[in-house]
Amino acid sequence: NIQRFSIHDGPGIRTTVFLKGCSLRCGWCSNPESIRLSPEIITRDIKCIRCGKCVEACSQQAITVVENTRIIQWEKCNYCMKCAEVCPSGAIEAVGRYMTVAEVIDTVGRDASYYRRTNGGMTLSGGEPLVQWQFALKLLQEAKKRGFHTTLDTSGYADWEVLDKVLNYTDLVLYDVKHLDSARHQEATGVPNERILDNLRKTVSKPKTKIWVRHPVIPQFSDSEEELEELCKFILTLEPSVEKISLLPYHKFGELKYAATGKVYPWKEIPTISDEQIEEFKKLVESHGLKVDVGR
Ligand code: SF4
Ligand code: SF4
Repeated sequence: NIQRFSIHDGPGIRTTVFLKGCSLRCGWCSNPESIRLSPEIITRDIKCIRCGKCVEACSQQAITVVENTRIIQWEKCNYCMKCAEVCPSGAIEAVGRYMTVAEVIDTVGRDASYYRRTNGGMTLSGGEPLVQWQFALKLLQEAKKRGFHTTLDTSGYADWEVLDKVLNYTDLVLYDVKHLDSARHQEATGVPNERILDNLRKTVSKPKTKIWVRHPVIPQFSDSEEELEELCKFILTLEPSVEKISLLPYHKFGELKYAATGKVYPWKEIPTISDEQIEEFKKLVESHGLKVDVGR
């Protein structure tokens, strides 16, 4: 996906390029359609006119229309995308498409005048953009050739050699620190955090790259004062490279996308977090002399 006029993924008005593929499996992920590396389908049942064209197109017999309801047996789907191609109403659509660097940068370049006026630019997000790091690197190089400000939104879970190369063309990195306890991190995301924290320490040594740390505040996972205290102490060891911490309150905006892409929402029962709690956490971070905001 390419989202123009984005205002949440770095300074100014930006174009955010979402690259598919992710090595983590965060239980609260609000973009489940970005985890798989290749294109997939997403359904919007309300748009279905029950014409049966998708049933005919599916060689896997994964789709049936029963009693006026179109049903997909996701375990049979091989993501051939034929149903999305024939669906006349947008009830089945493709998520993700193959594009060249030239095509992406052409789209990004359309808003160059907005970037100049607002100090905006291009942000690479995902998924985890470093899963497709060669593509990300070329895209960042092309953006820098055109004088665009560049931002990388990353979990930091990559080989340092890869991150190091990519950071040479990155002005700002939005770096996720989800939990400082490696066992808890692994439990919730599927991977330990040593490589992530080590890469963050090394990122500090890149003098031209600014860092905004992003910390998801998830009930029953990362919503304790103790955890936040530890995070602040850790960030203080990285100053002044870390310009600010963004607290990302847990939300359930992505819930419907799980069913719509044939997936199960792992943390369905986790409650959302109140504005009052987030305000308390914000004050706690400020009490350490750190700059903090509430992101999304
Ligand atoms: S994408 Fe899946 S459901 Fe759609 S036609 Fe192909 S196999 Fe069938
Ligand atoms: S092709 Fe689209 S509109 Fe027709 S039955 Fe399938 S999902 Fe519904």
